[in-house]
Amino acid sequence: MHLFRTVEKIKYHLVQQRKQGLSIGFVPTMGALHQGHLSLVKASLERNDLTVSSIFVNPTQFNEQKDLEKYPRTTSKDIDKLLRVGCHVIFFPEVEEIYPPGTTIKLPFTFENSSLTKVMEGRFRPGHFDGVAQVVYRLLDIVEPHRLYMGQKDYQQVQVVQSMIDQAGLTIDLEVCPIIREKDGLAMSSRNRRLDETLRPKAGIIHQTLNWTKETIQSYSLVELKARALKMLTIDGFNPEYLEIVDSNTLQPITDYSAHNEIVVCTAVWVGQVRLIDNLVIKF
Ligand code: AMP
Repeated sequence: MHLFRTVEKIKYHLVQQRKQGLSIGFVPTMGALHQGHLSLVKASLERNDLTVSSIFVNPTQFNEQKDLEKYPRTTSKDIDKLLRVGCHVIFFPEVEEIYPPGTTIKLPFTFENSSLTKVMEGRFRPGHFDGVAQVVYRLLDIVEPHRLYMGQKDYQQVQVVQSMIDQAGLTIDLEVCPIIREKDGLAMSSRNRRLDETLRPKAGIIHQTLNWTKETIQSYSLVELKARALKMLTIDGFNPEYLEIVDSNTLQPITDYSAHNEIVVCTAVWVGQVRLIDNLVIKF
């Protein structure tokens, strides 16, 4: 396994690999790795000659400084996990490598007129997707992969990154991997380790509520369904920020489910001081 901390060194290494005709799969992460992240690495290992994973807590996608400071950092354990799963190349840069002081990255895309970034996470975390798109674009420019692996866990992020790839005219296939969950249905997340121990046993309610929404979608009006789902999530210590039933491509809230082939129920819930997101796709 190769570990790189500078742009220059990883670029040089990957140029050599590409010259030999090797296909490259790329898994960007912010570390504190769990089985969800590793499932992306495994998916990449299956289809590509070379798998590259990055560990970089991107400051520009945090809309709250406190959240950035509290983000778990477990790098040596992360490297160990990537090593054991068979990842070939790890990129673990300092902030200055990604954003060299005094330089600005020119971005060949904009979300100014895009409705994708105005709803849900975009609405409650202003600037978040600009930061995500900026770092993903920068990382793709460094790694130049053939395939990019991301999780359905961040459903809106996947759509935003696909839009970025399209707008920038990049020839990269975005592969979306299913959500890996704990036994009680809680979606694995680096933030779960910060959950209050009295609240953690109740956190399965998030997945239960999404399942309930899916199962009962034909029994209530969408307004009633949403109200009931939000109520289910409002238990002691839990505070849902939103629960939206949206078209899976446009991400806009729907008014009539029978007019859509595929919808997705997305939610963000504060569990004590920790904000968790989850979603469930419903196909008709
Ligand atoms: P993060 O480190 O949170 O930025 O996540 C890195 C990648 O792992 C993103 O593409 C996430 O969508 C994906 N990911 C995070 N949690 C999960 C999960 N529970 N199942 C599948 N993929 C996940």
